[in-house]
Amino acid sequence: MSYKKEGETGHHRFISRRGFMAQSGLTAAAFGLAPPFWRESSADLPELKPGFVAPQYYGSEEENALLEVLESGSPFRYYGPGTPDKVKSFEDASANYMGTLYALGVTSGTAALDCAITGLGIGPGDEVIVPAYTWWSDYTCVVQAGALPVFADIDRSLCVDPEDFARKITSRTKALIAVHLLGGPCDMDPILETARKRGIKILEDAAQCVGGSYHGRKLGSIGDVGIYSFQLHKMISSGAGGALVSRDPEIFERAVRFHDMGGLRDVFRDRIGGEHLSRFAGENFRMSEFTGAVLGAQLPKLDTMIRELRENAGAVREGIKGLPGIRMRKRPDPEGDNGYAIYFELGNKQLRDRCISELRTRGIPTSTLTGSILLPIRESVINKQARHPSWPSFNSPEGKAIRYGPDSCRQTLEVFDRFVQVRIGPKYTEAMNDRIVDSIREVYTLVT
Ligand SMILES: *Cc1c(COP(=O)(O)O)cnc(C)c1O
Repeated sequence: MSYKKEGETGHHRFISRRGFMAQSGLTAAAFGLAPPFWRESSADLPELKPGFVAPQYYGSEEENALLEVLESGSPFRYYGPGTPDKVKSFEDASANYMGTLYALGVTSGTAALDCAITGLGIGPGDEVIVPAYTWWSDYTCVVQAGALPVFADIDRSLCVDPEDFARKITSRTKALIAVHLLGGPCDMDPILETARKRGIKILEDAAQCVGGSYHGRKLGSIGDVGIYSFQLHKMISSGAGGALVSRDPEIFERAVRFHDMGGLRDVFRDRIGGEHLSRFAGENFRMSEFTGAVLGAQLPKLDTMIRELRENAGAVREGIKGLPGIRMRKRPDPEGDNGYAIYFELGNKQLRDRCISELRTRGIPTSTLTGSILLPIRESVINKQARHPSWPSFNSPEGKAIRYGPDSCRQTLEVFDRFVQVRIGPKYTEAMNDRIVDSIREVYTLVT
């Protein structure tokens, strides 16, 4: 199975807006002057489909690695009739790629977060600062540890606002979960400065930006501990799966023990040079060899995925940057994005909604921000529902006092309401990028 840059497969074939106009003998002026006419005609244009990224790169490498696991009869990473090494090789390759010392493969990004929070020694009485807009797992991992989640707003980077992070710190704050959301890095320099000054640990959640970087360092390797997800929506994927990285042997040992019923096997004892902790009650989040096989084959393709996405995202950004007054997403390190989508901001929600519907009419994959949850306004969060009514998170004096809801995240709600997301596909052709540029230029002029 192979994929070419030019979209020759059926569902990728389409005619560009220029081609469409040429075929129908229309001029750009005709479109500019008659949007209703355009709307009718554009029903003929197939929707652009960016697709899930990872499966577009599946090939013989994944196939052969999976067959090796089948043929060896050793799907369990720690022993079997053969000599299982897929998960271990993937861990070694990940630590190397991310520029960190240790990596651990687990069953999901959520499991990796549970291990990371355990690794940091977080528990009842502690507070952890979490962005108000992110995936559920960044909230649930804190609650599962019996600690209290405290929300900080996001800013125009769509990631946590470093100033609001600083404002939310109390004497009980143990960590910030710095989530590199929607394919872009957090502004790590001010975050690290505050964290160092106040003695707060940084857990980087790079689930939505696997392979991204900040000032030359790979995301996940910058803070005290980092996590990745390999679920279908993420960059490299085995359907489900996750990993944790750290350069701290004690954080790593605690995370490893948590993922494997509290034990520490030789492979990890070798990696961290002995053991520093005793056994405690853990979970089973062990990665299977099948998962390790697919991820081991995917990792060497990650740079290509990112390069192709970045090229297409760059072409679209370049094509619309001259639009008068256009406000693009703030990018703390423009070199570090993974090119998953492009983002721009409109004056208010009404304009934003109109822009989205006009772009959709033209077959452009456009939406509000996607893939995460406005956590503080969700009912189960407002009502502080944990797995048991006596769960420690919300039964401390601080847990009883804290109020979630819209007033706890006004800036996040405003940012969310103003942004437009246009997905980028790694296999888009130049003509597809042009079609997106032309449509955004047209719609932006129409609505502003
Ligand atoms: C997907 C995701 C996770 C959880 O990953 P799973 O593998 O689905 O458990 C955690 N954090 C963020 C930001 C995510 O997008």
